[in-house]
Amino acid sequence: MVALLCYRCGSPDIINGDHGDGIPFDGLGGVLGHSFFPTDGRSHYDATENWSDDPGLYETDLNSAVLHEIGHLLGLGHSQDKNAVMFATIDHGVKKRELQQDDVEGIQTLYGTT
Ligand SMILES: [Zn+2]
Ligand SMILES: [Zn+2]
Repeated sequence: MVALLCYRCGSPDIINGDHGDGIPFDGLGGVLGHSFFPTDGRSHYDATENWSDDPGLYETDLNSAVLHEIGHLLGLGHSQDKNAVMFATIDHGVKKRELQQDDVEGIQTLYGTT
């Protein structure tokens, strides 16, 4: 299990270790990235992860991580729904590229339905 933890730290950048916002990355595994909540807009990704566009058993799907982080940038917190994009963790090799009902309801709560 790999964490997709996102703190209030806050250009989509892929960065190593300490990158100047007081929330250093932890190397391979663990935290994959983090983003600030609105209206900051910064989103950071740990360069030491095995990122992939088509992840194998020991790789992490960059698309899924970025989609999750965009949720935070828009103001969403973590979901309790294991299938949701906004669930706090993702397994290696798993793609979560489609918003689930819980993700949709979260964003509609923030921004409305029209
Ligand atoms: Zn998160
Ligand atoms: Zn950061």
